[in-house]
Amino acid sequence: MPQAYSSPAPPREPEAHNGHVFERELETLPREQLAQLQLERLRWTLQQAGRNQRYARHFQAEASDVRSLDDVQRLPFLTKADLRDAYPLELSTVPKTELLRFHMSSGTTGNPILQPYTRADVLQWGQVMARCLAAATLTCEDTLQITPSFGLFNGGFGFHYGAETLGCFVIPSGPGRTLLQLKLMHELGATALAGIASYGVRLIETAEAEGLDSRKSPLRVGIFGSEMWSDQLRRRIEDRLGVESFDIIGMTETGGVGMGIDCPAHAGIHVWEDHYLVEIADLHAGRLVPDGETGELVVTTLTREALPMVRYRTGDLTSVVSRDRCDCGRTSLRLERFRGRADDMLIANGVNFYPKQVEALLLSEPAIDNHYQLVLTEDAGLDVVTVECEVRTEPNVDPLRQRFADLIGFRPRFRFYKPGEMDRPEGKAVRVIDRRPSSSSSPAAAGEAR
Ligand SMILES: [Zn+2]
Repeated sequence: MPQAYSSPAPPREPEAHNGHVFERELETLPREQLAQLQLERLRWTLQQAGRNQRYARHFQAEASDVRSLDDVQRLPFLTKADLRDAYPLELSTVPKTELLRFHMSSGTTGNPILQPYTRADVLQWGQVMARCLAAATLTCEDTLQITPSFGLFNGGFGFHYGAETLGCFVIPSGPGRTLLQLKLMHELGATALAGIASYGVRLIETAEAEGLDSRKSPLRVGIFGSEMWSDQLRRRIEDRLGVESFDIIGMTETGGVGMGIDCPAHAGIHVWEDHYLVEIADLHAGRLVPDGETGELVVTTLTREALPMVRYRTGDLTSVVSRDRCDCGRTSLRLERFRGRADDMLIANGVNFYPKQVEALLLSEPAIDNHYQLVLTEDAGLDVVTVECEVRTEPNVDPLRQRFADLIGFRPRFRFYKPGEMDRPEGKAVRVIDRRPSSSSSPAAAGEAR
């Protein structure tokens, strides 16, 4: 066995949690000063967006009269459809000669959404990502393996800029070639891994099949985001990879991954509020919800130049956990880990539920492995939900169905597979297949590659 497999992690500086703050002054600003800075930046953002005539028409007159942060509530929401309609660069606020690049998110229908970057935007991305990596306890002594792609989608470059800003050693592996990933990870002594949670699961399976014990490698941090992962899956990944995990948020529309992350206190996801103004809205009721109540995350970027977002409806469901100073010293508000997306909600025979609820229930059963899928079909006019999952030993079905009935409100059918028998997609996990005649697509697959 090569040395790297068994050597312990290099000794770390004896730092408390609060040692890992990249921009201490800004990250710990008293909230009144933070609000003042947000207001200045909001006014700049509206001015910037107004440079594009189409964007200015979207606001009409409201944007010219923003005197307090609350005035943002008078502005109209910006939707995914607005951005799709503006394909390719119809909402960009600067000429193409000032742009360096774009990233995009694709859905299953229509045009992709393009997010262009000026030089200032690329720098901004590096700054917020460096904050995220520092919050995940990384320093210049760490080796970060970056498994999201370096291409049209935003993940890889975001981690890369953050890591370079912080001075980490980067393994820019991108996705796929899992055996090579493991070889590089072990032989170059990766201490941190960035990616989607389902890729973490893939690495675990491949390592175990190869007889490698990741818990004995120097790997100590996993930074995962961009898809739903339950607390139950989180615990399994932490246990089997031997890492502390961090949940990172951000999307193409807001300028890429890096809008926020949880800190070692793991008491909610910090949002970098000097860069992003967040609101939580109940869009059915047309109002903002109080702290603690779940709603859709609405984001206004405050420092993005080429295509700022003003009240962008992200579709992500979350709540404000706290606006108090965190144990780590940061003063930014903290969000609950995302529950899923508004359009992930499934309805079967009148019962509303989210795939994340199913995952949490399934993975609380030790016999059930990490691969599962929900298949929705119709039989004699009734919806049928079949849970297909890999199991180490076949669980007792009756109590399991009863737990579904008690906790989620329906009794699924089950189809069990042996470990390794179900298909593994290269990218994000496909958790829902809706074969009902009334459904046009699978909502969980539609969120692909944001
Ligand atoms: Zn904190």
